[in-house]
Amino acid sequence: MSTPRVVVLGGGLSGLAAAYTLARAGWKHVTVVERGSQLGGLAGTFEADGHFYPLAYHHILHRDQGLLYFLDRIGALRDVRWRKVRMLFRLDGRMYDLADPVDFLRFPMSLTDKLRFVRLMTRCFIKSDWTDWHERSAAELVDEWGGPGVRQAIFDPLARLKFDRPCDEVSGAWLGARLNFREGSAPLGYIPGSNWTKVLCDGVSDLIERASVRVRAGTSVVRLVGDGDSIARVELDDGESLAADLVVSAVPTEVYRELLGESRPELEAIQYTAIVSAIFTTRQTIRPDFYWMNLASLDCNACGIFVLNSLNPTIGGSGETCLNIMSHVRSRKDTFFNQGDEQILAAYRADFRRVFGFEITPVWSKLHRLPMYSPVFFRGYRNPTLRDPRLRNVYLAGNYRTFPSIASTGTALSSGVETGTAMLADHGCTTDLPDAIGRFRLASMPKG
Ligand SMILES: Cc1cc2nc3c(=O)[nH]c(=O)nc-3n(C[C@H](O)[C@H](O)[C@H](O)COP(=O)(O)OP(=O)(O)OC[C@H]3O[C@@H](n4cnc5c(N)ncnc54)[C@H](O)[C@@H]3O)c2cc1C
Repeated sequence: MSTPRVVVLGGGLSGLAAAYTLARAGWKHVTVVERGSQLGGLAGTFEADGHFYPLAYHHILHRDQGLLYFLDRIGALRDVRWRKVRMLFRLDGRMYDLADPVDFLRFPMSLTDKLRFVRLMTRCFIKSDWTDWHERSAAELVDEWGGPGVRQAIFDPLARLKFDRPCDEVSGAWLGARLNFREGSAPLGYIPGSNWTKVLCDGVSDLIERASVRVRAGTSVVRLVGDGDSIARVELDDGESLAADLVVSAVPTEVYRELLGESRPELEAIQYTAIVSAIFTTRQTIRPDFYWMNLASLDCNACGIFVLNSLNPTIGGSGETCLNIMSHVRSRKDTFFNQGDEQILAAYRADFRRVFGFEITPVWSKLHRLPMYSPVFFRGYRNPTLRDPRLRNVYLAGNYRTFPSIASTGTALSSGVETGTAMLADHGCTTDLPDAIGRFRLASMPKG
């Protein structure tokens, strides 16, 4: 059977899952083009002193079905361990664990607002469909179900930390779906003895290689050459030009627009935030014990501090503690994002001193800038369509299409599978992959 020539733009998890879906169904001419030297995109890894680390904190979410399915498929799910972690909220120089009743009582918010906060969380835990909140803001959601006091104390700072925007610009559906997911209160997963995102990316890369997908890593797509209402060729930075019957764009929408070189009003509204992320290792002891600390006073350069060993005690070298100090910034044009490495690392060391009261003495530190992390989920955000509205042979995949779900490795994988499945269907082919993912359940639920 002759099958279409498919070029997948971007070897992040969504692009890899789209390629896998097509190749698993017997399509023989699938090529993934990835700018980075390794596959995996935002879920990528770096090596230091013989150990592997994520570019920024990553944990496995126990309700992330797409991720759990792929971990099982690559034989890694049996190695996953689950741990209940401590998350702290740092406000006015003090740290609070809002899941701890004593800390919750001493948190600076009136008792009435605390009860309203519990009511908000309970309502969000129960509600799973957030379509009716698509046009409304996170501020409206919190004010209506909690109250302005709850918003001012908790959600205004969190919206600033996540998007560098006020709560009334952020989508109510996004916040509601995120609270419904209960990321903070359920156990999180990791793989002992390794960095799990490397296990995942290596495993999925291996799957697509065995399915005979061609991979062009370390190569950028520089232009898409049109032929009327379709794309005929994909031009690469090494001068090669790939003929394409079908194209999957699994790059951020801003990159896709640039490659097309034409205006796309439906994509222009999508604006990406950026991330600055530093990994530090140290032999110092860090107290109190926590995994995730939100720096909610907004008095630091960083938005959050993560002690990666608190989730995965085996990460990094023996006797070392591995910290991730990171900032979400409004866009890659942000001044902080564009400072020199030494300046940013010094700013994060100052944050560490402010929070813990002593200087960090790193064994080493490494800085990453992630210029396009996530779209800002503004009030009224709409997922772009899976099929490009003008080009009949172009399909879209990626976490910019999975709103209002939490954007994770699993939603990226599921988005790629959804796109691959639609392409197969448009060409009279079928796959059981979405059903297999939908049916997938953990054999036993993690214990808290
Ligand atoms: C700080 C941080 C924390 C996270 N925490 C978690 C977590 O705890 N748990 C979890 O499950 N997920 C987490 N995630 C989310 C997850 O890693 C990402 O959402 C997911 O990997 C995105 O996949 P994607 O394929 O949609 O996009 P990307 O990974 O962005 O893939 C796009 C790919 O396109 C490539 N590309 C761009 N331009 C070109 C070009 N011109 N030519 C060729 N290639 C190009 C890029 O290099 C990239 O590889 C986190 C992400 C970050 C950044």
